[in-house]
Amino acid sequence: MRTAYFLGAGASYSLLPNFPLSRDLTIERLLDRRNYAQESYMAIESQERGPDVITELREAVASGRLPAEILGARLEDVLDRLPPAEGVPGLRERVLYLVMKRLTLTVDGSLGALSSLLWNAQRAGDLFLTTNYDTLLEWELGLMGAGFQWSPLDAVGPDARYWLDWGVPASLEPPLDGRDARAKQILGAAWASLPILKLHGSVSWSGCPTCNLYDLDPLFKDGATDSIGGWLACKRCQRLRQPVFVPPVHRKDVASHPVIRAIWDRAQGELRRTNRIVFAGFSLDPSDTAVRSLLEETNGPNLQAVVVVDPAAEGEIGDRFRALYGSKVSLRSESWAAFLESHRPIHTA
Ligand SMILES: [Zn+2]
Repeated sequence: MRTAYFLGAGASYSLLPNFPLSRDLTIERLLDRRNYAQESYMAIESQERGPDVITELREAVASGRLPAEILGARLEDVLDRLPPAEGVPGLRERVLYLVMKRLTLTVDGSLGALSSLLWNAQRAGDLFLTTNYDTLLEWELGLMGAGFQWSPLDAVGPDARYWLDWGVPASLEPPLDGRDARAKQILGAAWASLPILKLHGSVSWSGCPTCNLYDLDPLFKDGATDSIGGWLACKRCQRLRQPVFVPPVHRKDVASHPVIRAIWDRAQGELRRTNRIVFAGFSLDPSDTAVRSLLEETNGPNLQAVVVVDPAAEGEIGDRFRALYGSKVSLRSESWAAFLESHRPIHTA
């Protein structure tokens, strides 16, 4: 029985109510220093010489360069309306920098039930799909460790983030560096063994459309802000890298980005081979036509069971899933956190 866990925003929220989700990622909230713990000075360059990003963005709002009406909207809906960079990092890059900062400072400790799920999924050959572009799963994998011997000379061991299989062909990613190659050698079959297909991309991904190479590094492998920067310039052509962070509501949006397109193609193949799907905190919103058509196309004879985990499962949400999957559906009216605790599997190393 191969299981796909399909996680929506409600899944992240039920585990970490303070974690910034898409609805929290508005420019207005990003400009609120209280969201950044002790860190009060945000310099896009080095701490010593860079101007403070929050101050710069506030000035942009005051002068009208950043339209006031986009401040409260979800970032995914307004990202493309931010003024484009012209050779040097612009307002858009500064906003993305704050997104990264927001994500670096809010996570505290491991979530045991989620670790158990990831651990067992890797061993069972299960997979994850998510419409979230937060980094909760990567965080948890990073905290788990993979239990392999690693030279003390290496700054970072082969933690469980090296299990990640983003569903993207190697040709779209830069060649492995020395540390990656070493981790691959040590991990063997465990390398890239856990598919996590992020259908909307991720806040920690960026890439160069000119070179057609994308850095989908496990978060913070090279430092938090390097995930968006590096600093920002493509190491090959020196052009500014772009985020891989999209709200694909229609199938055509999916096709417009090589990384997102590859992930959706992979998702389609994986879902056709899946025997059970566990949907968590995913409402099957009728306006998300791309996901709906993906699920319709892949509802074949292999799929035997669909479990819908949501506190509001007995209602409109449940009806939507029944309309799509019929009698395959069973409803669990509980939060993802409660479901994970009650189904907590035993770790077997
Ligand atoms: Zn480039």
